[in-house]
Amino acid sequence: MITTGNTQPTSWQWRQRVKVPFIDLISPYRDLKTELDEAYFRFMESARYVLGREVEAFEKDYADYCGSAHCIGVANGLEAMHLVLRAWAIGPNDEVIVPSNTYIATWLAVSSAGATPVPVEPDSCTYNIDPNRIEAALTPRTKAILPVHLYGQPADMDPIMEIADRRGLRVLEDAAQAQGARYHGRRIGGLGHAAGHSFYPTKNLGALGDAGAVTTDDSELAERIRILRNYGSKTRYYNEVRGFNSRLDEIQATFLRVKLRRLDAWNEKRRQWAACYSEWLSMVPDLVLPKEPKGTEAVFHLFVIRHSHRDELAASLKNAGVGTLIHYPVPPHMSDAYQDFGWRQDAFPVARSLADSVLSLPMHPYLELSQIKHVLNCIKNYSSASKKWSKQQKSN
Ligand SMILES: *Cc1c(COP(=O)(O)O)cnc(C)c1O
Repeated sequence: MITTGNTQPTSWQWRQRVKVPFIDLISPYRDLKTELDEAYFRFMESARYVLGREVEAFEKDYADYCGSAHCIGVANGLEAMHLVLRAWAIGPNDEVIVPSNTYIATWLAVSSAGATPVPVEPDSCTYNIDPNRIEAALTPRTKAILPVHLYGQPADMDPIMEIADRRGLRVLEDAAQAQGARYHGRRIGGLGHAAGHSFYPTKNLGALGDAGAVTTDDSELAERIRILRNYGSKTRYYNEVRGFNSRLDEIQATFLRVKLRRLDAWNEKRRQWAACYSEWLSMVPDLVLPKEPKGTEAVFHLFVIRHSHRDELAASLKNAGVGTLIHYPVPPHMSDAYQDFGWRQDAFPVARSLADSVLSLPMHPYLELSQIKHVLNCIKNYSSASKKWSKQQKSN
C-alpha cells in the first residue's frame, strides 16, 4: 500500500465513514420499488415514448395537486420558466425582477428569454424576496416579477400580487424548491399568474432524471406553452411560431405519477425533522435558524442554518460523518456568468452575507431520529469546543 501522509480521507473512505448523508436517493426507490418497476414495464410495453398518455395523466394529477387549472409538462425547471417568459413575449429591452439570492437558474431563465434580470434583496429572516424593496427596482421596462419559494418556504405572495396588479406586471413563481408548500391555505404554484416547477431528482418531488412543468389558470398561456414546447406546432408539421423541443419525458411522467402520491407524506416527514432540528438547536448560541412566518407552511426542501464560522462548523460536521452543502456559495451577481453586468461586488450585501454564512444540514424524508440526534450532538460539541477555545484566547 502506498502511504502519502495525506490525512484527508479519499472519497471511498469518506463514503465508508458517512453517518448522515446529506441526501438519500436510493431509499425512495427501494420504498416504491414495486410500483416504480411496474410503471417502467407499463411504459416499455406502451411503446409511446414522447407525449403519450402518461404525460397527459401526470399533467392532470399535478394540476389538481397544485389547485391550478392547467399543467404542462416540460423538460426541466429552467425551461418551464423560460417558456413562460417567451409565451408572455418578454425579451430584449424588458426587465424582470428576481431575488438577489437564488439558484442561478432563476436568472438564467430571464437571460435565455433575452430579457434582463433585475435583482432585489431578500428579507433577512425568511431569505425570500422582500416585497418592500420591489417598487424601488421597477422601471418602465419592468414586465414581470419572478419570486422564488426558496428552500421550500413560500415567498410573501400577497404584497407581490398587489404590486403586480397595481403596476400591470406578470408574476411567475419559481416553485422548484417548494412542491406542496402552502401560503394562507393555498398551495404554491397556483398563486401567481404562472409557476415553473422542477422535478430534478433531488427536489421534494423528484423524477429519475430531468423533468419540469408549468402550472397556470390561464388557458391561453397554457395553450401557448404546449405549442412552444413542441417545435411551435399544434398540428404535426404545421408550425405557427419558432418553438423549442422541451417536452416532459414520457418515462419521467410515469415515475412522477407514482411519486406524487407520496409527496404529502414525504413533506410531512421533512416538517417533522425540521421541527426536531429547530427545537433542539434553539439552545445553541450563535446559530440562526429558519423561521416560518404566520400563515405559511414550508416543505423544507433544505434546512438552512446560519453561522458566522460556517466553514469551520461544516468541516467539523464532515469529520463526524455528517454531509452538509452550501446553498449557494456565490450569489448570481458575483458569478462569472454575470460579470458583464458590471455589478459592484458590494451591490447586494444581504445576498452576499447569506452566501458567506448559510449551511444546509442533512434533510430528506428517510432520515432517522438517531441520525438527527447525531447531527445535533456534533453541532453542540462544536459550539462548546469553540466557546472554550475563544475563552482561552481571551485569557492568554
Ligand atoms: C432546481 C432549481 C431550478 C432549476 O430546475 P432544473 O429542473 O434543474 O432546470 C430553478 N430554480 C431553483 C430555485 C431551483 O432550485
